[in-house]
Amino acid sequence: MKNYKTIILGAGLIGSSIAFHLSKKETGILVVDQGYPSSGTSGSNQSWIWVHTKKPDYYAEFSMYSAELYPSLKKELSMDFEYRRTGGISPIFTKEEWEQAERMVEEQRARGINIKLLTKKQALKKEPALNPDILGATYSSLDGHVNPMRLNTSLYLSAQKNGVSFSFYNKVLHVERENNGNFIVTTQNKVYYAEKVVIAGGKWTSEMANWFDARVPIEKVKGQIIVTEPIPPLLKHIVRGMRQTNNGEILIGMSSEYEDNRTTTFDVMKQSASLAVKLIPKLNNVRIVRHFSGVRGVPIDKLPVLGEIPDNRGLFVAATHSGVTLTPIVGYILSEIIMREKPSISIAPYDVKRFYYKDVIK
Ligand SMILES: Cc1cc2nc3c(=O)[nH]c(=O)nc-3n(C[C@H](O)[C@H](O)[C@H](O)COP(=O)(O)OP(=O)(O)OC[C@H]3O[C@@H](n4cnc5c(N)ncnc54)[C@H](O)[C@@H]3O)c2cc1C
Repeated sequence: MKNYKTIILGAGLIGSSIAFHLSKKETGILVVDQGYPSSGTSGSNQSWIWVHTKKPDYYAEFSMYSAELYPSLKKELSMDFEYRRTGGISPIFTKEEWEQAERMVEEQRARGINIKLLTKKQALKKEPALNPDILGATYSSLDGHVNPMRLNTSLYLSAQKNGVSFSFYNKVLHVERENNGNFIVTTQNKVYYAEKVVIAGGKWTSEMANWFDARVPIEKVKGQIIVTEPIPPLLKHIVRGMRQTNNGEILIGMSSEYEDNRTTTFDVMKQSASLAVKLIPKLNNVRIVRHFSGVRGVPIDKLPVLGEIPDNRGLFVAATHSGVTLTPIVGYILSEIIMREKPSISIAPYDVKRFYYKDVIK
């Protein structure tokens, strides 16, 4: 039996980022995971840091603030996590898409987001491998990508260096309150005590919240990704639907299936390959060497769920889709909220309270 100040449930990118940022403010932190860092969704994704087509516009702005924190996170963490701010391109093929893009660019620019609508000539100059049949593209220099496994390991090692304890392969079975209001965390290996608990369980968040009869509605949405053989540098940017890693592989995929399993299917592989060749015709002769899937934990209204759960003092939650993009900001802001500091940025649209009280400001 051991007492901690704060126990974080889940060592994915979100739990590890909270641990790292919180470790600069308090001691006595434990992170518990049923697997290892990145055994959940953080190890099975595309890993774009993507801002410029996010909707609604205030959420794009929130994503921008997170993307802007990456360069300083890179300096702070000891391990290289292959962060590259390449800029992102979203190709446009139809007149209808062009009109939608015009509206989006206007909205996002009004939010201070650096986004441009490129003509076909400008887009092909920027990314020569694009299909010459495009009408144009949207572009933002804010976008980039990382290696998510290295990022998670880097956050975990830096948090550990700051004194955070981690317990892996240790499933949390139940969490309840003691009479004094503190928490009893029962895991498969041990029982721990804590003043505060943070639910960072990704797609498992709703089940964890159920221990407190708390409402955090999360949908489970599978995504499949195909991986090519390593090829010489072809993509200068992340192109919506794909990115080229440091060792030359191209990760391709934008599929969404409302399923909670990690099987891969031939039809989605074919769709992903067709999408890739439509966007980048040179990929026609490139071999696929791997195919994997991951399950997104997507809050029911598609927006992050952050903050202290109502009527549950000391119980915090951080659950989001696009958790790679949002890793820095969620870790930073949650550390402020947990320490009862005023958050640097308002979390009103993302506050978990919205599932309890209708009058939470949008
Ligand atoms: C196909 C795909 C593509 C994606 N592409 C992108 C992208 O390009 N950009 C982007 O920003 N985001 C992307 N995402 C989303 C991103 O991967 C997730 O938002 C992010 O990884 C969530 O991190 P997390 O820490 O909340 O969850 P997880 O990494 O799942 O961490 C939760 C942890 O909780 C642990 N856990 C669960 N239950 C228990 C228990 N009872 N006891 C102990 N531990 C427990 C799990 O083992 C897990 O490690 C993508 C996701 C998918 C599936």
